[in-house]
Amino acid sequence: MKKTRRKTGRRLAILMLLVCTFITVVTIENINADKQPIQDENPMNGSENNGPSTGTVQPGTDKPTGQKPETGSNQAANGEPSPVPDENNSPNNDDSIVVVAQPESVTALINKHFALPDDYKPSDLVYPDVPFIFAEKIEKRKMRKAAADALEKMFAAAREDGLPLSGVSAYRSYSTQKTLFDRYVRQDGWDKARTYSAVPGTSEHQTGLAIDVTARSGKCAASDCFGGTKEAVWIARHASEYGFIIRYPEGKDALTGYKYEPWHIRYVGEEIAAIIASGDLTLEQYAEQHGDGSIAVTD
Ligand SMILES: [Zn+2]
Repeated sequence: MKKTRRKTGRRLAILMLLVCTFITVVTIENINADKQPIQDENPMNGSENNGPSTGTVQPGTDKPTGQKPETGSNQAANGEPSPVPDENNSPNNDDSIVVVAQPESVTALINKHFALPDDYKPSDLVYPDVPFIFAEKIEKRKMRKAAADALEKMFAAAREDGLPLSGVSAYRSYSTQKTLFDRYVRQDGWDKARTYSAVPGTSEHQTGLAIDVTARSGKCAASDCFGGTKEAVWIARHASEYGFIIRYPEGKDALTGYKYEPWHIRYVGEEIAAIIASGDLTLEQYAEQHGDGSIAVTD
């Protein structure tokens, strides 16, 4: 009797051990399944996008066709609508990022599929002579020379029209974007962070050709409430005259990978800005139609 009880006890113990082992294995597998390939990056404010590096860049799968990234479903992996229609959110689809061959091109297409080399830093960064919403003379005031000159002209024109503007954030280095993006990932996880912030290397701010702007008051800086303000309307109407485009237009999320950002403008030069504005295009569509070397990728 005692023997039987001991036997039963041993069997129970073995069974428990097996069950525990099984649970442990399943748990570890689940944890691994949840892990996302973290890419390098770094931006600055919560509602902004931008940022990659060699370690995270996956070369190859995405051919430099000069075409916009294929539009995929807007469904996140869990089947719920993603806040931003992002073709990259589909796990089977293409999360790949390729590095552009001519990062210094004024038309370089940088988005969730096309990245700058992580060590890319424009050689002609200067401080545009325009007000910012902060006083410090720091990195995020800088822009490339041509963009800075154009910005000064645009701000002067807006001021003459009674709508003085301020800069919010311009150049952002790879490492700054990485710091920022990593923080968002810790807060919200990789999938969510990616919808509102750029993987390091994929931030257009790293080109030195993009800047977030707002009204002189600083109210609604890089926030949705900037949309529809007199300043936002002025920018939408006149930015192209100075060589800038609204990089993430309303309703073009599926093409750009980002929700509407009326405050984020990108310098492409007056000629191309005019084509993009009059054709109601995104930079992705322009690149597809006009294909240019700047989006060719390195091997
Ligand atoms: Zn921006």
